[in-house]
Amino acid sequence: MLELIHKNKAEDGSIKYAFKDSNGNAFEAVYFRLPPNNGIPYSVYHMCISSQAGCAMGCKFCATGYGGFFSDLKAELMREQINVVRDDIICSEIESETTEFNVVLMGMGEPLANYDNVVKFAHIANNEYNRLHKVAISTVGLTPKIFKLAEDLPANLNFKLYISLHSPYDAERAEFMPITRKYSIQSVLEAGRFFAKKTNTYVRVTYLLLKGVNDTDQHAHDFAKLLDPHLFETQIQLYNATPGIPYGRVDDSVGFRFKDIIESYGFKVIVRLSSGRDVEGGCGQLIKKIIPRNAERVLSKM
Ligand code: SF4
Repeated sequence: MLELIHKNKAEDGSIKYAFKDSNGNAFEAVYFRLPPNNGIPYSVYHMCISSQAGCAMGCKFCATGYGGFFSDLKAELMREQINVVRDDIICSEIESETTEFNVVLMGMGEPLANYDNVVKFAHIANNEYNRLHKVAISTVGLTPKIFKLAEDLPANLNFKLYISLHSPYDAERAEFMPITRKYSIQSVLEAGRFFAKKTNTYVRVTYLLLKGVNDTDQHAHDFAKLLDPHLFETQIQLYNATPGIPYGRVDDSVGFRFKDIIESYGFKVIVRLSSGRDVEGGCGQLIKKIIPRNAERVLSKM
């Protein structure tokens, strides 16, 4: 069972929820809509849920990464996040019961590090929700699990795999995504190519712009050169700055310059400006603020 412990509504309409499980481990979910002009149908709303309480991947730009890992969430706890958020937005008449929705596992945790529960959840969600439009999972690139996932998903599930790349260079990526020391960019993209071919879907490769770190034109060119336009699509994200974490947000214009460069290589590119910036909308930010135990661990690692 999960317990709702906090709820915040942002000026842009997104709502962030903080939960804890029966052991007191905290995690987050977010309801949001994307702007109509961003390449995703506006008729669909989104619920971003957590797959773990905390995370062991240690990405340096992420408040959850600084907090460390607490526990894997059972499939049932992922389902409960959807039910609580959905009940809330329907009861509040923000959304209707008949509106289709996407579920994205991009909250706290690395979904493929909690593989069995995430695959079980995908099967449950596929059977249970007749308004479910799509399930998406975002991974830092646990290469063997990407190969396995291509075999284990429900055959009729509308599914999208996101791979967080954030740099075209292994050495640079390893500086802020330590998993790169275990799985190189090339190995992750090889798994992504396999997944795209096996599932007959485009894999979406995401690029989080960090001011002064990975935001030059050369980065954009080299990122595009790594990918195959017939297997991958791309998404540019602008970092949601977190107090105490040493990365800054680029101007929106940098995101659109990246888009132009990558599009010139024949890719579909989506630019995501962050949702919920006034409610600690970035992964782990709300928990860092409201749960002292996590906050202590965050601060002790800075
Ligand atoms: S970005 Fe994702 S994988 Fe990396 S530490 Fe944060 S929650 Fe974990």
